Amino acid sequence: MKQSSYFTELHQNAGSGFLLEIDKKITEVVTPYQTISIYKTKTFGNLMIIDDCIMLTTRDNFLYHEMMSHPVLNTHPDPKNVVIIGGGDCGTLQEVLKHKSVEQVWQVDIDEMVTRLSEEYFPELCRANQDSRANLLFEDGIKWMKDRDDRSVDIIIVDSTDPIGPAEGLFQLPFYQNCQRVLRDNGLLIQQSESPLLHFESIIKPMHSTLKQAGFNATQTLLFPQPVYPSGWWSATMASKATQFMQFRQPGIEQLRYYNSGVHGAALQLPNFMR
Ligand code: SAM
Repeated sequence: MKQSSYFTELHQNAGSGFLLEIDKKITEVVTPYQTISIYKTKTFGNLMIIDDCIMLTTRDNFLYHEMMSHPVLNTHPDPKNVVIIGGGDCGTLQEVLKHKSVEQVWQVDIDEMVTRLSEEYFPELCRANQDSRANLLFEDGIKWMKDRDDRSVDIIIVDSTDPIGPAEGLFQLPFYQNCQRVLRDNGLLIQQSESPLLHFESIIKPMHSTLKQAGFNATQTLLFPQPVYPSGWWSATMASKATQFMQFRQPGIEQLRYYNSGVHGAALQLPNFMR
């Protein structure tokens, strides 16, 4: 009988790991920035790995992509210009473009190969890539943000890998200072902020204080499940230039699989250890 094989991600420093049964490895590409692998799994569809860390699967990416986009778009009063830093798999881009008010989106990923592999192995995430409002750029998001004009963007979504390697600077003060400068006065930023259970002290708390140091006046963290990420529980942290967040609007979009206004409200309720 053929033995099962598994992709295993070990969670450094957490004493845990996660595994997915795989049918086969489809491809692996070494780029100047990282190593990207694609697998076909038994029950989670296709799987993208960057530098040994799970990025997404066909089955559960909707949780992350909907929570990285709809809460922030429904909190901004009139989102027209949106920037996505990272996000090369294009899943967040597709969700952003579901909003009719949005006029332009710039997706700035350092690694074009992530997008090319996503087009081939996650085509359902790339259906909006040809939208005339979508601008796909392949550059370092830290430098790109430094070169932008003041007050030219409504929303910045930081959909990056973990804060190591090319993404390290995306979690640091100089990048946040540029984001703060580039956002209009009612502008909002949202950034994936890792696991509330594993990274509260090391990433989420410092992110709030560094965003405030950069001049953002209000910050809040949203929580949601993400089965394939370390601990299965994930977060996104939002920052506002204005002194408080506006009450979020009822979603005007049907056919989302996870997000609705009840989920938005619940995601903002923090457990005692995070208050
Ligand atoms: N959902 C994923 C997660 O939380 O693990 C993130 C997915 S997305 C594929 C992450 C992207 O960030 C990658 O495509 C990577 O190339 C990009 N990235 C990392 N550092 C970057 C930088 N400095 N500028 C732009 N993109 C960057």
